[in-house]
Amino acid sequence: MRTVTHFVDGESFAGHSGQLGDIYNPNTGEVQAQVALAGPQDVAIAVDAAEAAFPAWSATNPQRRARVMFEFKRLLENHMDELAELLSSEHGKVIADSKGDIQRGIDVVEFACGIPHLQKGEYTEGAGPGIDVFSMRQPLGVCAGITPFNFPAMIPCWMSAVAIACGNTFILKPSEKDPSVPVRLAELFMEAGGPPGVLNVVHGDKVAVDTIVEHPDIKAVSFVGSSDIAQYVYSRGTATGKRVQAMGGAKNHGIIMPDCNMEQAVKDIVGAAYGSAGERCMALPVAVTVGQKTGDEFVERMLDAASNLKVGISTDADAHYGPVVSAAHKAKVEDYIRIGVEEGAELKLDGRNHTLQGYENGYFIGPSLFDHVKPGMRTYKEEIFGPVLQVVRAETLEEAAALPSKHQYGNGVAIFTSNGRAAREFAAQVNVGMVGINVPIPVPVSYHSFGGWKRSAFGDHNQHGAEGVRFWTKVKTVTQRWPEGDIGDQAFIIPTMG
Ligand code: NAD
Repeated sequence: MRTVTHFVDGESFAGHSGQLGDIYNPNTGEVQAQVALAGPQDVAIAVDAAEAAFPAWSATNPQRRARVMFEFKRLLENHMDELAELLSSEHGKVIADSKGDIQRGIDVVEFACGIPHLQKGEYTEGAGPGIDVFSMRQPLGVCAGITPFNFPAMIPCWMSAVAIACGNTFILKPSEKDPSVPVRLAELFMEAGGPPGVLNVVHGDKVAVDTIVEHPDIKAVSFVGSSDIAQYVYSRGTATGKRVQAMGGAKNHGIIMPDCNMEQAVKDIVGAAYGSAGERCMALPVAVTVGQKTGDEFVERMLDAASNLKVGISTDADAHYGPVVSAAHKAKVEDYIRIGVEEGAELKLDGRNHTLQGYENGYFIGPSLFDHVKPGMRTYKEEIFGPVLQVVRAETLEEAAALPSKHQYGNGVAIFTSNGRAAREFAAQVNVGMVGINVPIPVPVSYHSFGGWKRSAFGDHNQHGAEGVRFWTKVKTVTQRWPEGDIGDQAFIIPTMG
């Protein structure tokens, strides 16, 4: 059976832990490969390689670093089909969706190609008599990224492309559920001219994560995953003096206003709720309808749209979505459906016990739709992360808008309306990090920044965009004077520029 190994110092590395994890095929439920799980010694070897590569890479001028990124982008584009197939085979999302995942990653690599401009400092000539002040953004050193299963191409690129372009060296610890694409990313980065040790991949579970967050030579950690672990990584990492950004879970709401284009809103939400089997942190698993008539019409149309979705294997070009990632996740989602019924929500469409002929052991869940979900319900408060849409009824926009604002998560939210002023006011007031106006999955483009609020993100800087460059660099400010003669004794007073 194939074993996915670590990738350290430019080559495959089996590691010394002797621990292996299983990689499943979510279409069939079979183990298709194994992955090496790093122990502390394996992580330490990767950190040493990254540490050794740092002086030369950080001294490489930004234009040359950008050239590697340009070539990396070209190779990713050339390998799109191969990467998408590999991604779908381990994650279960359909091929078109895997291509979207990879394309979003390529977009960040493309953004990183602009590093000579992005990393420029600031300069003030004549800040005082004969005094100039300038600042520079310097790389941090060895950095690490810990990523979730649901975007195995995009999220590793969010972190590594920007960090590396800034002159850092990097340890990527991807999800052990779908680790193959991250390794291919590192191989292609090498092929693009990236020096050995600049981008390393170490697989593993909690042991590897704990070793990364504790390691004294790792200067910054970016994490994306569920909230409890995000908070854990944030507190452990910052306690050891690291810079940490940790993105967590989500429960995004779509507000359906009476004046929206209902046909379009239903089309948008059916994709945003059920696409990728609901395993997107920017999915819209909650629809809040405003007014009884809007609610009734939305539920009727959505029931029809959801009932007509095709669930299929990840290579089925006609399927709207594929299996969820694991047997445990399937059981968890189905349990939430059971709890929702017990809590008194009205189950209009039940996706449990969904089987596919010839793939009876695959992790398939049909689309589920709940109406009359109440904010006090556990199934409303918690993230389900599956193909389950919950409809909450509200009477006014104020009542509807308060729901995402008060929710523990604050990743994304969308409003569907034809009223520009109401939408503008909503976007300004809502207590959520990313907002869509008639846009169902408002993932910001690579040159803006991605990040939620509340329990959806711990730390100060968002992913990619200018925020990403800030996270992966530290600012040094230089005040210089080249006096012509003796300027007297000023050492006992705080210098001023007057
Ligand atoms: P997860 O939290 O289980 O795993 C994320 C990473 O943490 C993985 O690399 C995993 O190996 C590691 N990990 C798992 N258990 C750990 C533990 N006990 N201690 C230390 N590390 C551990 O998340 P997942 O199931 O892979 O991904 C889905 C979650 O990620 C969802 O909650 C989703 O909302 C979230 N997500 C958030 C964003 C965002 O930007 N906010 C984006 C994508 C996914």
